[in-house]
Amino acid sequence: MKLAQRCSWIAPSATMAMDTAAKEMARQGIDVISFGVGEPDFDTPENVKEAAIKAMKEGRTKYTPASGIHELKVAIQQKLARDNNLEYGIDQIAVTVGAKHALYNITQVLCDPGDEVIVPAPYWVSYVEQVRVTGATPVVIETTQENGFRVTPEQLREAITPRTKAIMLNSPSNPTGAVYRREHLEPIAEIAVEKGIVVVSDEIYEPFIYGGAKHVSIAELGPEIKALTLLVHGVSKSHAMTGWRIGYVAGDARVIKAITSLQSHSTSNPVSIAQWAAVEALTGSQEPVKQMVAEFAKRREYLVERLRALPGVECPMPEGAFYVFPRISAAFGKSYNGRVIQSSMDLCQLLLEEAHVSVVPGSAFGAEGYMRISYATSMANLEKGMDRIERIWRALVG
Ligand SMILES: *Cc1c(COP(=O)(O)O)cnc(C)c1O
Repeated sequence: MKLAQRCSWIAPSATMAMDTAAKEMARQGIDVISFGVGEPDFDTPENVKEAAIKAMKEGRTKYTPASGIHELKVAIQQKLARDNNLEYGIDQIAVTVGAKHALYNITQVLCDPGDEVIVPAPYWVSYVEQVRVTGATPVVIETTQENGFRVTPEQLREAITPRTKAIMLNSPSNPTGAVYRREHLEPIAEIAVEKGIVVVSDEIYEPFIYGGAKHVSIAELGPEIKALTLLVHGVSKSHAMTGWRIGYVAGDARVIKAITSLQSHSTSNPVSIAQWAAVEALTGSQEPVKQMVAEFAKRREYLVERLRALPGVECPMPEGAFYVFPRISAAFGKSYNGRVIQSSMDLCQLLLEEAHVSVVPGSAFGAEGYMRISYATSMANLEKGMDRIERIWRALVG
């Protein structure tokens, strides 16, 4: 059977092999500690579950409009007004099957073959692959640790060509935890407006901000940039609802209409019950979110301190999300039991096999020389996992 050409444009996830290996070790009864997870370890709040049960009992179990129920769109509208000072019409909002699906829909309705989409690295892997599926080209800009892993206006200007369609922004960032402040966003917005470039702003980690930083959406910076911004969000991370699959896009009504159309022929609506649960997540008490963020804040401090104590490890203090992204290239060229470490993948494999800790290599995010550690796991696991990493690291580097 001959597959469509577009299948050859996307790469299988490099982290999948690691993840499969970790799961296989766990299956064999080995005590593997996972620092690889990309979802909160907290349970979905009780009030949200209750809302889903109620929806089910009330028979809200049928098709909904493709772009989501009116009640959820109103809840999203209110959330964006309340938290972000952004006003959107109901026709400017589409509910999707998770934020990943929102991003997928956006690339599908926006990109033609030959178009270019700017993706700052380290990036969330799906951005690149989703752009590729459309036949467009991801143009990767490598940000630096010195610049806080934020793309600079100079870099952006340099990357723009007449084919540039959009730029992907992700603040707070997965994998680096970088947060773009107002002063970082202003020049980017200015360039986007000047060149008429769409900004896809993935704000899924909005509530996970620590130590005085404040979330700013680029869409807040004025009507012109708001008109060019497609704001992507969802309840997966904020309300520990990854399995419920509810995300959304807010922005240009024509884009929303195209997404609705595409969705009506692909997934139809996001799950009806999950939509009602999301209404409760957005309109009910935000106390569970606050508790979760307070716990993450403690873990972040602990983890950064432990990593900074390791010789040769540079660990910037991430301002958001639930990841740390230390520089681990000091291990390159070093060997452990005759095994030479030459890449972040080599190190992660060594850590998995010798320390039974799974972490994600920076190369998976377009950033060789780093690794991503998720602290969406208990403090006890963080302590145990870091003890193990430290043992290997000291044997390797000193
Ligand atoms: C988790 C994640 C998403 C996807 O979230 P879902 O709602 O579960 O699809 C999107 N962007 C980033 C950066 C993420 O880490």
